[in-house]
Amino acid sequence: MANDNKNPKEKKPKFSPYWIYGIILSLFLVFTLFNNNTMDSGNSTNPTQFFKFVRDGDVSRVEIVNRRLAKVYLTKEAAQKEIHKKSKPTSFSLSAAQMPNYRFEFGELEIFQNKLNEIIDQENLDLEPVYITEENHLADFLIGILPFVLLIGVWIFIMRRMSGGAGGGAGGQIFNIGKSKAKLFDQNTEVKTTFKDVAGLEGAKEEVQEIVDFLKFPEKYTTLGGKIPKGALLVGPPGTGKTLLAKAVAGEAKVPFFSLSGSDFVEMFVGVGASRVRDLFKQAKEKSPSIIFIDEIDAIGRARGKNAMSGSNDERENTLNQLLTEMDGFGTNTNVIVMAATNRADILDKALMRAGRFDRQIFVDLPDVRERKEIFEVHLRPLKKEQGLDTDFLSKQTPGFSGADIANVCNEAALIAARNGKKAVDKQDFLDAVDRIIGGLEKKNKIITPSEKQAVAYHEAGHATISWMLEHAAPLVKVTIVPRGRSLGAAWYLPEERLIVRPEQMLDEMCAALGGRAAEKVIFNKISTGALSDLEKVTKQARAMVTIYGLSDKVGNLTYYDSSQSEYGFTKPYSEKTAELIDNEISDIIEEQYQRAIKILEENKDKLTELAEVLLEKEVIFKDNLEKIFGKRPFEKEERETLDK
Ligand code: ATP
Repeated sequence: MANDNKNPKEKKPKFSPYWIYGIILSLFLVFTLFNNNTMDSGNSTNPTQFFKFVRDGDVSRVEIVNRRLAKVYLTKEAAQKEIHKKSKPTSFSLSAAQMPNYRFEFGELEIFQNKLNEIIDQENLDLEPVYITEENHLADFLIGILPFVLLIGVWIFIMRRMSGGAGGGAGGQIFNIGKSKAKLFDQNTEVKTTFKDVAGLEGAKEEVQEIVDFLKFPEKYTTLGGKIPKGALLVGPPGTGKTLLAKAVAGEAKVPFFSLSGSDFVEMFVGVGASRVRDLFKQAKEKSPSIIFIDEIDAIGRARGKNAMSGSNDERENTLNQLLTEMDGFGTNTNVIVMAATNRADILDKALMRAGRFDRQIFVDLPDVRERKEIFEVHLRPLKKEQGLDTDFLSKQTPGFSGADIANVCNEAALIAARNGKKAVDKQDFLDAVDRIIGGLEKKNKIITPSEKQAVAYHEAGHATISWMLEHAAPLVKVTIVPRGRSLGAAWYLPEERLIVRPEQMLDEMCAALGGRAAEKVIFNKISTGALSDLEKVTKQARAMVTIYGLSDKVGNLTYYDSSQSEYGFTKPYSEKTAELIDNEISDIIEEQYQRAIKILEENKDKLTELAEVLLEKEVIFKDNLEKIFGKRPFEKEERETLDK
């Protein structure tokens, strides 16, 4: 279980924001008290009674305060009357004569004045209302500061919520905002992942194993004068097991292991990231020898100063600077090793990657066929599977899959088998799982017209025919016209796992991809929108040939790819003239392959038609069906050998 990162020695701060709420409440009370002018008291009455008092000649003076309040003073004689006895004013500071006997709010001033004047005229009284404006400085002051106090109250409330204080008892959490959010795994927290759970990745495993060794037996390395590396960066595509590898280090190292993600440093407040970095390193040093693992380090480690226009970068840069300082700041003898993972090493700041910080870069690549087999074996362990399940076959069926994809295939296969009420997961469940992951869910009841279905069948048969005919096109596994995910049909290939690709291989693949549209043209003499994804793929490939790999004769042996920059930015790194040349070259390459596809299909029109008819009938066809129509594929042997290597 993860340590929840609270230091038991840490005392709760005495400050409680409840006193702020108290102040707000008191201010309200005081304000109400003063605003009601209760200092000079006087019994309350109402206008009807007041007019009666006036008629009876009991009133000696009327003060109209702030156009809304009437203060009534009685004559000496009237004050003695039984009816007014209760109105006797009391005050510590004023004499009885200075204090009104009654007070009331009369509403509309004009109506009140008219009525009063009417009575004065009728009774012929010598009474003239006095108009007074009273200023209440205290109330004004309180009204003035009230918004600020309210604002502070709301701010404290939000801060407490944000720092998880809502359920965390009274106050104090606000001060934890600058503390590191790393989870600590140590001898008290059992991490079950070990190197056994990480399949393949031999080289990477060896390197991280050495890191564990550095921490366990530092003398072994330092006696010869060597220094222990400060950091190791795991780089590779998503899902290849970088986090898993780090977890295994935690499981094996038996030293405190602080794990957090790059985004954990980021907060909306300036300075928080840097403070969290400081705190993380402080904790790690206290517990040394220890390992810090920062997942997705690109969240803070992105190269500085590229986005000068957005001010939000500053905070991230401060955090990164602090990280750089900390990695430089601790000596080799502190025995803290920083491990980090990213799938975008190209965008990381160069300062972060220099020797002395992340001295080691460990590449964790997509697994090859042998590694995939090992990964299958790890993830098949907990499954109930049929006897003699062929993991070699499964690994060959999943080129380009990452470890995470394979874990997903195994899980999906188990779910499919369970859905079909099987007692054990069999080969077909795995194949269905692979199809589901590559192509999405089958949509058997999607409404599709017979002519659309025919077009899809010929389109897919076109791909299948060309890839069968061309040496370097990927060998076909199966073709389907059952709609799946967003596509109406699909052809499954088993691409060769190449480390370098030659132009003829790229061109063959492009020709096969254009086979779908070419088949529509050859058979119906019409084309459709169904080739969108093929065209997208082909265009990207042709552009890459010309602008990235320098494979075009006309443009030459140059590349516009800049590994230090993720995109071109605002300006293209070539002239308008070259842009035109590139565009022409791309369209020439594609057109040439399209014509080549048309030629192949025209020559094999009868076989193409036969294949499409079988496809329309069966909806799914496999390699065997193709072999029946086309005969054995002449290049088969060579590809097998490549795959089996
Ligand atoms: P990301 O870069 O997206 O964070 P990652 O490289 O950190 O990905 P992990 O989170 O380590 O990938 O892997 C995801 C899952 O894939 C793991 O939990 C594990 O189940 C499986 N997996 C990946 N690689 C392997 C492997 N070599 N052996 C066994 N399982 C693996």
